[in-house]
Amino acid sequence: MTTLSDTDSPFAIAQQQFDIAADLLGLAPGLRGILRCPQREMSVAFPVKLDDGSTRVFEGFRVQHNLSRGPTKGGIRYHPSVSLDEVRALAMWMTWKCAVANLPYGGAKGAVVVDPKALTPGEIERLTRRYATEISLLIGPEKDVPAPDVGTDAQVMAWIMDTISMHQGYTVPAIVTGKPLNIGGSEGRSDATARGLVYLLNDASRHIGLNLQNARVAIQGFGKVGASTAQFLSGLGATIVAVSDTGGGLFRQSGLDLAPLLEHKRQTGALAGFAGADAITNAELLELDVDVLVPAALSGAITGENAPRVRAHVIVEGANGPLTPAADQILYDQGTFVLPDILANAGGVTVSYFEWVQGLQEFFWTEREVNAQLERVMVNSFQTVLRVAQERRVDMRTAAYLVGVQRVADAVATRGIYP
Ligand code: NAD
Repeated sequence: MTTLSDTDSPFAIAQQQFDIAADLLGLAPGLRGILRCPQREMSVAFPVKLDDGSTRVFEGFRVQHNLSRGPTKGGIRYHPSVSLDEVRALAMWMTWKCAVANLPYGGAKGAVVVDPKALTPGEIERLTRRYATEISLLIGPEKDVPAPDVGTDAQVMAWIMDTISMHQGYTVPAIVTGKPLNIGGSEGRSDATARGLVYLLNDASRHIGLNLQNARVAIQGFGKVGASTAQFLSGLGATIVAVSDTGGGLFRQSGLDLAPLLEHKRQTGALAGFAGADAITNAELLELDVDVLVPAALSGAITGENAPRVRAHVIVEGANGPLTPAADQILYDQGTFVLPDILANAGGVTVSYFEWVQGLQEFFWTEREVNAQLERVMVNSFQTVLRVAQERRVDMRTAAYLVGVQRVADAVATRGIYP
């Protein structure tokens, strides 16, 4: 059995989570060995000309965890402290996430070690085009399809799509998802992760007896996932009492007024300085007395150290890996209901799948069709995982792993070992 420690690296944590499921499933050692490691990984070091005329070398990665169920899928992260170890973990989590949502994909992830805020738009474009060229050996519509993640956006995807299309000599829309609409993006993709999370929470609320209309919510991270989640939940009548970004958090007992807050963030680039709320720290936000806590920033936010002080009744993981295994255990014992990342934030990759299908077919859906299909996938996934949690008497993360790992293991076993 595994030992739970906060000092473990993200990939060691991902492997511990896998081991728990593999033990419960009684996976054969050979199968376990295959699924425990990334199938392929690539490290690149590449030069970029900066605006001042100098040249700087950047480090990047692309990891494909498992290709058994189809092409691999996963975002590209630009962050100054991202590591190969973290990318391995994120790629593995993508494999299980795609399998839980029953999408015909394996998991992948990419990253460049860079602070995008420290570069100009021109420098980010050159960095993106060169990184895309370096990893072009691995990516492709039938092979591996990137998408946005922390520090990247639709514009970055457009540059990757254009770069690969220039290499091919024709337009390749299905090379990436999360593209702008005017070059083959999907309706509903930009806020799909948050929308899917809210569909899921809405369905789960019936099971856990949570009235979303009266719910008090705190959200860590106010980016693509966090800010949209705040808007959707507020639209359902929930009270968003706290949000935060890298610079700290904001709290208002009676609920934050989101429209001026979003405008303040748009104008200043940060939450800090907003007049309509009190400043709190990120640590304080996680420990607020709320019904729902949505970690939507980076991994490792809640650990064995702060988990005993977390008072939320429900945690919905917008981020990937925000709870360590030690935190999981403490929260389970406390009776906190956790909707795990590989279930809760699958809305993004689900609409990415719809975008990929639309790109391959050159036939585009309405937003209503996209959202209806998204809701169907999120509700089906929740009901499947809930059933396993009840049958096996395990927490929702373990149940989600049991579903995801079993599906991938079945695919590997059915295909057999080559040669
Ligand atoms: P983003 O870059 O748009 O936003 C990240 C936000 O987190 C920013 O507001 C940033 O200021 C904040 N942040 C960073 N470090 C923080 C800290 N220590 N404390 C508080 N806030 C902090 O990224 P995103 O796309 O919203 O992704 C957020 C998380 O959701 C990541 O874990 C990502 O892997 C996960 N995720 C994203 C998607 C997607 O479709 N974008 C899909 C699934 C999962």
